Amino acid sequence: MLTKKKQLTKNKDQPKPTKRYRKCKYCGEKSVPYGAMQPFCFKNKCIKAHNQKTIKAQIKQLNEKDTRYWIRIATKWFNQYIRHRDKDLNCISCDYDFKKGSRQGHAGHFRPAGNHSILRFNELNVWKQCSICNNHKSGNVGAYERALRGRIGDDEVDTLLNNNTPKKWTIEELQSIVEESKLKLEENFTQKQK
Ligand SMILES: [Zn+2]
Ligand SMILES: [Zn+2]
Repeated sequence: MLTKKKQLTKNKDQPKPTKRYRKCKYCGEKSVPYGAMQPFCFKNKCIKAHNQKTIKAQIKQLNEKDTRYWIRIATKWFNQYIRHRDKDLNCISCDYDFKKGSRQGHAGHFRPAGNHSILRFNELNVWKQCSICNNHKSGNVGAYERALRGRIGDDEVDTLLNNNTPKKWTIEELQSIVEESKLKLEENFTQKQK
């Protein structure tokens, strides 16, 4: 609360208060705004309404500034590319033939992305896998490794197994993964059409 003395000083400092009156965006009443850009009055409900609006805007903004948001987007496009790349292959772990059954094909990691984030978007570490192996057999990793050695060779598999470098993805890197995956999807698709 302003004291009478302060109010007088304030009025003295603001010789033409009428010019600074603004209409509150929330209740429509006219008041002297605290700052030039303040679009609301000092009533609690108006401050609350304004804060809620600001928070909503911040959450929207946070999304695209949040690394987790971009991990999700990059994973979506990368997985889609992997499934398309391996369109004609059977499940890496159990050799399930997708053409003969109704199991879904997932992009399954050899070394899990959660513990080995550096391998999250490594093409040699992710292969099409059936939904049973991916969801119910924890990746069926023993069989996965045997098949992977057959597909890409011992050297590449050992390189994957020895890569334990910690990795924090930046938003820029994740955006590049999105672009690369889209491009590869397009190339892969064009090749298969020929
Ligand atoms: Zn108001
Ligand atoms: Zn399988």
